[in-house]
Amino acid sequence: MIFQDPYQSLNPRFNVFEIVTEPLLFEEKSYSLAEKEVLALQALEFAGLRPAIDYLYRFPHELSGGQRQRVSIATCFIMSPDLIIADEPVSMLDASVRADILKLFVNMKEERGTAFLFITHDLSLAWLISDRVAIMYLGKVMEIGPADIISGQCQHPYSQALTSVLAMVGEERRQEKILLEGETPSPINLPSGCRFHPRCPVAAERCRKEEPEYCEVNPGHFVSCHYPGSLQKHKGDK
Ligand code: SF4
Repeated sequence: MIFQDPYQSLNPRFNVFEIVTEPLLFEEKSYSLAEKEVLALQALEFAGLRPAIDYLYRFPHELSGGQRQRVSIATCFIMSPDLIIADEPVSMLDASVRADILKLFVNMKEERGTAFLFITHDLSLAWLISDRVAIMYLGKVMEIGPADIISGQCQHPYSQALTSVLAMVGEERRQEKILLEGETPSPINLPSGCRFHPRCPVAAERCRKEEPEYCEVNPGHFVSCHYPGSLQKHKGDK
């Protein structure tokens, strides 16, 4: 797992060597100190901390935010994981560092076949780096499908509202901005029926009573809505 805040996610009492090699404690095989050092150096090199030996015995307070996030990546990398869960991993980093960290993820995906579950509020970023996206509202997946749905093919009213305010590079805006009214309800007191109904511009009586099932609107593209695609039709009718 890679956490959002590189300033909080590393133990300040551990040095980089101890942080990066800690996951090896959970492996059946036991490693000598020399083996651990070699693995830690390889992981740090891969994560872009070069020369790795210069970072191996530093403490987190001696590193920048970007370097700390690279230490988190090295900590994952040392296990050669099949899946990494990354929770807003670049949102607290400078724009210049962000691009480098994202390239690292892409390299892990392409060279090692690592899968990522990438959690973000940045839809443009999700569109750029993902194969599939799931759009959530109040803890429920409202729509899931190929990443391209973000660029104009989404069918859930919530996704349509979110994507209507996205700026797409090189594309003229084809649709009107949809601004949702009202506040997001409390997740401990969910609305009846469809949880999005208090803010949905096309909510009907049925939506207040019945929670929608998932329907497959295109192969591999699922929407939890009684009237998928209805918001665009509604806007078109106006
Ligand atoms: S089920 Fe009804 S309220 Fe919920 S998103 Fe669809 S149209 Fe809107």
